[in-house]
Amino acid sequence: MADGSEFDIIARYFKPLACADEGALGLSDDAALLDIPQHQHLVVTSDALVAGVHFLATQSPQDIAHKVVAVNLSDLAAMGAAPRAVFLAAQFPADITEDWIMAFSTGLGEALAPSGAVLMGGDTVGTPGPLAFTLTALGLVNKGQALTRAGANLGDVLYVSGTIGDGALGLLCLTGKLEPNAHLASRYTRPQPRLALGQALAQRDLATACIDISDGLIADVGHICETSGLSIIIEAAAVPRSEACAAFPKLLNLVLGGGDDFELAFCVRPDNIAAIEALSVELDMPLTRIGECVEKGTGVSVLDQSGQIMNLGSLGYRHF
Ligand code: ADP
Ligand code: MG
Repeated sequence: MADGSEFDIIARYFKPLACADEGALGLSDDAALLDIPQHQHLVVTSDALVAGVHFLATQSPQDIAHKVVAVNLSDLAAMGAAPRAVFLAAQFPADITEDWIMAFSTGLGEALAPSGAVLMGGDTVGTPGPLAFTLTALGLVNKGQALTRAGANLGDVLYVSGTIGDGALGLLCLTGKLEPNAHLASRYTRPQPRLALGQALAQRDLATACIDISDGLIADVGHICETSGLSIIIEAAAVPRSEACAAFPKLLNLVLGGGDDFELAFCVRPDNIAAIEALSVELDMPLTRIGECVEKGTGVSVLDQSGQIMNLGSLGYRHF
């Protein structure tokens, strides 16, 4: 792999990212040591990203690093946790160059810095298969404050952050199926985990349930329905779209069903609506009411402009 051994690669490119926390032991020991404050839970999540499945091998190493970090921190955001540490298992094919790994590690540092998480360990292996990364992210949340998918109640209102659909359309731009569009492409290559939002919702007890939108709005809101044991009705026209996305009204199915947005969808008691509107101003981030929790049973329904239930087929990305 590249020039030099696995150990040289770790020392040159990953160790500098680990120096911000002495518990990483300079990546020179078998494992890392972490202190967890007694009043907090350690929140742990892991996501694998494989070239050709979760990112395009032609994307820049910095973009790939950014995405590996963002999709994991997005899971912490959905739980209301503050990022603390990440562990990276990297699988490099034989033809990877040292320049590529250097650029990747630069991107990793840039993606981690604003989050407060430090790279504290991992593994580096060669593979006969595609380039792949598994990142494990650790965060902290005060006991009793973690957001889950399970707490939504009948009558709660469903909100989403940001705009929906850009990620899926961005992938079409990058694969030549839509005209190039810088905004849409960057929403696919550089998703922003909604960490400040997740933490504010958790600390102020403003959300009864929360999930990040990775597999598609309908599929992910469906997970809140299953876990909370109720149904949610979404108004298609209310789903916030960027100007670039709104230019493709015929691609509504992709807006509702495509993935890769990494926004948060969350349920709010009606008496907290004013607080959510204030939070939107405070964070300078659109928070848009798109639906409502209704009776038990049928999962997600989407209403069209005339209030009719849309036939959506099976939307949402499934890996198998
Ligand atoms: P072991 O053989 O015991 O698994 P390694 O030699 O693989 O240990 O790793 C040595 C140290 O380097 C460990 O602290 C490990 O966490 C760290 N490390 C290895 N690869 C990475 C990586 N890609 N990113 C961050 N730390 C890494
Ligand atoms: Mg090892």
